[in-house]
Amino acid sequence: MERSKVLISAEEIEKQHEYMRKVKDLLGSGERYALVRTYGCQQNEADSERLAGMLCEMGYTITEDEQLADLILVNTCAVREHAELKALSITGQFKHLKEKKKGLLIGICGCMVSQEHRKEDIKHKYPYVDFLFGTAMLYRMPEILYTKLKKDKRQFFLDDNSGNIAEGLPVYRMNSFKAWVSIMYGCNNFCSYCVVPYVRGRERSREVDAILKEVRELADAGYKEITLLGQNVNSYGKDLEEPISFAQLLARICQIEGDFTVRFMTSHPKDATKELIDVMADNKKIARAFHLPLQSGSNRVLARMNRKYTREKYLELVDYMRQKMPDIALTTDIIVAFPGESDEDFEDTLDMLKRVEYDNIYSFIYSKRKGTPAAEYPDQIDPAVASERFARMIACQQEISARKNKDYTGEILQVLVEGYSKTDDQKLTGRTEKNRLVHFEGPEELIGQYAAVRITRSETYALFGELAQ
Ligand code: SAH
Ligand code: SF4
Repeated sequence: MERSKVLISAEEIEKQHEYMRKVKDLLGSGERYALVRTYGCQQNEADSERLAGMLCEMGYTITEDEQLADLILVNTCAVREHAELKALSITGQFKHLKEKKKGLLIGICGCMVSQEHRKEDIKHKYPYVDFLFGTAMLYRMPEILYTKLKKDKRQFFLDDNSGNIAEGLPVYRMNSFKAWVSIMYGCNNFCSYCVVPYVRGRERSREVDAILKEVRELADAGYKEITLLGQNVNSYGKDLEEPISFAQLLARICQIEGDFTVRFMTSHPKDATKELIDVMADNKKIARAFHLPLQSGSNRVLARMNRKYTREKYLELVDYMRQKMPDIALTTDIIVAFPGESDEDFEDTLDMLKRVEYDNIYSFIYSKRKGTPAAEYPDQIDPAVASERFARMIACQQEISARKNKDYTGEILQVLVEGYSKTDDQKLTGRTEKNRLVHFEGPEELIGQYAAVRITRSETYALFGELAQ
């Protein structure tokens, strides 16, 4: 599509700012609170920060307390059925809040409701939901909210799925030291199991200058970690008027002054290049961590998934990466029990886990997604077989992760401290450059800072240590 049609015009964005002012005037000067509940991936978290930014501009204070909230917005995910059911269940619970608090506004947005059938569900089965909008309508939230308030009528805004890029919206960052920067939106890959291309539209890249400006501002504000987001960052820039590769963008980001680490996700193996690996190897600002979703270790399954690479091509990439950066941490996504997955196919996946020795894996049982080709495949796997394979895979990886974690005992690691541990409030917790979770005792002032921690003990998913002098 023409670039001018992808970029939302400055006039349109100004119109939305005008709506923000109008909502603010309409609601008056009293205190009001908004809760934004987010499900799903980092892209959704980044979107929620823009929604929260707009709500702040309308005079809302962001809260985590649903009892206090005057407006609740649920940003949903559609990648697996489980995520959808969770979002629907929480939305269901808000009904009681609304019964207690008359003026409470409830909105729902994101990937799940960008599907026509879910929109209809909400319309008919959740009458207390006041407004709904799809992913490409995010920037019009002020207008939608204003129309709802003015007309006192439920509003349903679904995208035409053409996809767009809206710059110049306010952002309310939920974290003061880690930030998300979307570099592109949408996906063109149509993996046969995946709903994302249907709910997020086609691939479109933000302009290089807009990204550099945002990263520069974050670096100046003292952010320690900046994660670049896209469904397939490797195809960044192909649609720009002056095409540029993701590797070139990364190299330019690394030239920005400041003491920050860059991460990125997600990288599709079919488009990961040696150029990208070289840029990583040459730039200390880029974390030595690579998330490279494999999905399956069987070439037959990969072809049916429409992934467009083979296990051999994947292993070649891993070899090159380790040759250039021997200490790189590798993580991946795996789908278990994709339709037609045989015992041999599954063994091929286990074989890849053993060969690559990932630091960690994110594994999912295949979930049938309405409208995707794989949902129509006749050879769906029996749920009992799926669970059994899933358990075997977790056990296989646990052994590898535990062994890798053990190797850290005695080492001193730099940890970006994130807060108190969820399981032990006497301990701080943080992550290393390679995304290892570390728990240790230390003063609260360390939150948001780097700390040197000597590792004394390890478990499968976490390291434990003490502050090094
Ligand atoms: N764009 C990213 C993935 C986004 S979805 C990529 O290509 O890597 C995140 C992960 O969810 C995927 O990597 C995949 O492992 C998983 N996933 C996607 N659709 C799924 C489905 N229908 N069932 C189970 N897992 C799925
Ligand atoms: Fe889904 Fe594949 Fe696109 Fe990732 S690359 S979002 S898995 S279609």
